[in-house]
Amino acid sequence: MDNLREKLAALQAIAGNPAAQLEKFLSEGRKVVGCMPYFCPEELVYASGMVPFGLTGEEMQASEAKRYWPAFICSVMQTVLELGLRGRYDGLAAVMIPTLCDALKGMDGNWRRGVKKIPAIPVVQAQNRKTEAGLEFTASQYRKIRSRLAELAGREVTDAAVAGAVSVYNDRRAAMRGFMAASAARPGLLKPSQRSAVFKSAFFMDVNEHAAALRELTALMEEQPAAEYRGPKLVTSGIMADNSGLLGILDDCGVAVVDDEVTNESLRYRTDIPVTEDPFKGMALLLGEIEGCSVLYDPGKNRGRMLIDLAKKSGADGVLLVQTKFCDPEEYDYVPLRRMLEEAGIRNLMVEIDLQTTENEQTRTAVEAFCESLR
Ligand code: SF4
Repeated sequence: MDNLREKLAALQAIAGNPAAQLEKFLSEGRKVVGCMPYFCPEELVYASGMVPFGLTGEEMQASEAKRYWPAFICSVMQTVLELGLRGRYDGLAAVMIPTLCDALKGMDGNWRRGVKKIPAIPVVQAQNRKTEAGLEFTASQYRKIRSRLAELAGREVTDAAVAGAVSVYNDRRAAMRGFMAASAARPGLLKPSQRSAVFKSAFFMDVNEHAAALRELTALMEEQPAAEYRGPKLVTSGIMADNSGLLGILDDCGVAVVDDEVTNESLRYRTDIPVTEDPFKGMALLLGEIEGCSVLYDPGKNRGRMLIDLAKKSGADGVLLVQTKFCDPEEYDYVPLRRMLEEAGIRNLMVEIDLQTTENEQTRTAVEAFCESLR
């Protein structure tokens, strides 16, 4: 058990201090490329010999960024820009900015205007992500990004290097699925804050080191018995669910997160990149195959059906919908999701999180009452 705690603590330390990781990479003389949410083609950065580094926002008060954003933009975008303006990301070779939601679309212009010393690389992916035309478009954009990264890295990035990177990232996806299965089979072994840190640390670590750490952690978890868990078992869903205030409340309430449908958690790992002759096609296909995410076009709301299946399969007592404040895609999804969960008879609660809020008492009361009602 001591070894398990040690491994978890190491990943928690990394998840809690991304600045130290960035400093480490830069001091080793490595070129680092910032990757904003969601579904940045990190494989291309790896193939170019540089290090992809997640820019996921931070719990802090934004001030400078308010000169660029209106007040009702999500705190993820506010704090990422704030950190860029304050120089926290100085040393990055570039930042990649996907455009999957309206806030992200505005980030490209704001970043170019405000953080001139770090070049922006827009990542444009097709909304009609499953059609032949959509796949071709996304693959063509990835090829453009490859050229840009090759310029920055000062070396050629061959198709073979991209295929190799795809294999490395699929290996990490497999390692993460192993961790997810071990965690789901042992409710309560990991606190929600510990489980979250395992996912979050992925954004700030070398992919091979992270995969190795996941495998060691999973082996240690598998040594533990899968005992019956008497506390509330929940499935979480949202775009992000790593808010420390919320995680502290879930820890205090003795919640076990038995599975999730969170974009920045398991959705990144459920599906491998298909191995295709043209690796860019495979990378585009992946985006077409991911389901359950509010920023990916989902006209039939597969997300709701997946969530119901996940809740049933995992034996969860209920679903916690984690809503990032001012996140339009999540707000639009909430209405049909809530209806679908209610119709399926699945107990659910929606809580709102915000990186700039330090006061979580209303959330605590709501979560405590929800857990009590599940008992
Ligand atoms: S998906 Fe939501 S939380 Fe994420 S950047 Fe867009 S608006 Fe912000």
